[in-house]
Amino acid sequence: MTPTAPAPSIVERLAAPHRGPVPFSVEFFPPRDAEAESRLWRAVRIFERLSPAFVSMTYGAGGSTRDRTVRITGELAAQTTLLPVAHLTAVNHSVAELRALVGAYADQGITNILALRGDPPGDPLGEWVAHPDGVEYAEQLVRLIDTLGDFHVGVASFPETHHRSPDIDHDTRTLVDKLRAGAEYSITQMFFDVEHYLRLRDRVAAADPEQGLKPIIPGIMPVTSLATARRMVELSGSVIPPDVEERFAKAAGNGAEEDRASVRAVGIDFATEMAQRLVAEGAPCLHFCSLNFAKATTEVLGRLGVDVDAALHVPA
Ligand SMILES: Cc1cc2nc3c(=O)[nH]c(=O)nc-3n(C[C@H](O)[C@H](O)[C@H](O)COP(=O)(O)OP(=O)(O)OC[C@H]3O[C@@H](n4cnc5c(N)ncnc54)[C@H](O)[C@@H]3O)c2cc1C
Repeated sequence: MTPTAPAPSIVERLAAPHRGPVPFSVEFFPPRDAEAESRLWRAVRIFERLSPAFVSMTYGAGGSTRDRTVRITGELAAQTTLLPVAHLTAVNHSVAELRALVGAYADQGITNILALRGDPPGDPLGEWVAHPDGVEYAEQLVRLIDTLGDFHVGVASFPETHHRSPDIDHDTRTLVDKLRAGAEYSITQMFFDVEHYLRLRDRVAAADPEQGLKPIIPGIMPVTSLATARRMVELSGSVIPPDVEERFAKAAGNGAEEDRASVRAVGIDFATEMAQRLVAEGAPCLHFCSLNFAKATTEVLGRLGVDVDAALHVPA
């Protein structure tokens, strides 16, 4: 039997040829039920035709959603041409369990892992309590994964600073420490003001020029529902800037239900404007929070000059 070649790293993928003006990547989350899983797979097949640099699968707070993350990430590796990145959090895990999870990924050929601390289950903004035999910070998880084999690790970064960071310098130091610990790149929390991303990049470069060379991949969400965007932003401890909120609120209208078509139109325009600016500023990749749908992201990619027509016509 021919041995399988090891999966490329994300940094290698970002340097490889790509469609459009810049590589892109897509974030999925573990679907709740069979219907949602079918929807995810429809999106996966569309994205597959567009050759993203990688796709990532978030890691939930509870048992069954965690199992689904591991299973579906394995299926993405085995049954598609996509390069999956498995998110892994320290929440409620002992070091022994974290080791076993990383081993389970390695058994499926998954060597790209996004190392995260995670948020407290139930209330993401509530008190963080480390597992008595676990790790406290993502930096420790990066170091742990590094001891377990030939993995390529990424971490989270926060253009608006992380909501638990006491100040901006502490926040920058946290990211630099994770990169010095061996993380090869970071993916940002989704944001709505490109200036915040640019300032984060400048801060990291000023704090440590060597680590500043590592890719900081901006997270973008093409908003199709203002209510969903508000909820996600709130749960992540960040904010929608007032001018952006105003633009979306105007589109949503004053009715009992938001005007989804108008919000969607503004969402696609806004995500495209952000993406164009990020490309002009040299972002290494655009990471789309897809919410397991392909259409809005594909529309943005189309506006950026990617030929998306063939991808959208997937046989049922
Ligand atoms: C791209 C991306 C993907 C994500 N995916 C998931 C997911 O799949 N599942 C999920 O549950 N959550 C996910 N999250 C959310 C993330 O887990 C939370 O934002 C979490 O609160 C922070 O995680 P972290 O890895 O940045 O933590 P850390 O880097 O550990 O930082 C957490 C806080 O602790 C502080 N800190 C770090 N080190 C130290 C230290 N040595 N001493 C004192 N303070 C310190 C930091 O400044 C920060 O305020 C994701 C976030 C992003 C941006």
